[in-house]
Amino acid sequence: MPPPRTRGTALRHLLAELRGPAVPVPGEPPPQPKALDARALAALAANPGCDRRALLDGAGVDKAALADALGAPSSFGQSQFALTRGNAFEKRVKADGGAELLRLVHEKLDPAAPPPETSSVPDLTAVGPAGRTARTALALREAVEAGGWTLLDHPMLALDVAGSPAFLEPDAVVVHPDGSWTVVEIKSFPMLDGSADPAKVGAAARQSAVYVLALEEVAARLDPAPAVRHRILLVCPKDFSNLATASAVDVRKQRSVTRRQLARLTRIEEIAEALPEGTCFGLDLPPERLTAAVESVPATYAPECLSTCELAFHCRERARAAGAVTALGRAARAELGGLTTVDEVLAAAHGEAGDPADPAVAALRRAAGLRAEALASASAGQGGTAC
Ligand code: SF4
Repeated sequence: MPPPRTRGTALRHLLAELRGPAVPVPGEPPPQPKALDARALAALAANPGCDRRALLDGAGVDKAALADALGAPSSFGQSQFALTRGNAFEKRVKADGGAELLRLVHEKLDPAAPPPETSSVPDLTAVGPAGRTARTALALREAVEAGGWTLLDHPMLALDVAGSPAFLEPDAVVVHPDGSWTVVEIKSFPMLDGSADPAKVGAAARQSAVYVLALEEVAARLDPAPAVRHRILLVCPKDFSNLATASAVDVRKQRSVTRRQLARLTRIEEIAEALPEGTCFGLDLPPERLTAAVESVPATYAPECLSTCELAFHCRERARAAGAVTALGRAARAELGGLTTVDEVLAAAHGEAGDPADPAVAALRRAAGLRAEALASASAGQGGTAC
């Protein structure tokens, strides 16, 4: 008798059906479901309201390949040049047993601790992601017991996402002499006079928050549980040079948002059940069927999607075609309350629709009145000049 189907296996089966059969490339190994990584998990926190993204990521659909198949390829991802430059910078920061990195952690996050004159860098080599995760957990425990400073270079962490483990690889984790743990994120964008591009810092903070959550799961299995610090260290090149500089970033907010999003991901079953019978995102389907499948999942496009999601060009085109106010940005969307399309906004402003007691409708009418007055006085002024 086959084993009874649990909720977890039923969900995995459902997601596999949504993903559709893998499309093999001649001469290459069969494609696997796209694993969720920290960037993908962090991007979920960047657009928490999007069912489309939650479902596609949960099902392991390759969104870049899907965007290609939909005829709206993404321009997403880092250039090879940026990757090479980033790797070289990270290597430099971690040289000499991470001496510079540990100095920065001590200076920015734990100046009261003894300086890191000696440190340990354990070997984290193991077979496969599960083996590396177990090796990392052991190294963390040993580092806490040993005291002193320890640098874990590219540890492997696992986070339970919708019943399956997502394996995550932070740039580094530092164990402090008091046994607490800090996530270190090394980026190649510059920090000028101590500050960097806020959008890039925000993305790094969301990514680090995912690592903090995964580390908290490891810590919870130890007794007593070590503290996982909620201020991470962001290391960047200083003023376009090769020298490293760093800043402590508080990721408490991003951690809470990501945690809520992950809890929501376990409800992808509900999103999937609301889809029409037979919905599938198989990349071998004709474009019109694939488009219909994608469009059957509600999306909340926002301009931020352009830097966080591979489907951004497709969703932007659809949002514009539908006149959705989300395409104008989250700030405008929030101000417009229950008005969801540009046509509804114009009708409300011109007094053709909308409840005058609604603050958004009242504000639009007032703005429309002021605009009409300004135009009238401008044309009257023009008329006077002509005389
Ligand atoms: S691009 Fe589309 S699928 Fe991706 S997060 Fe934005 S709305 Fe959702």
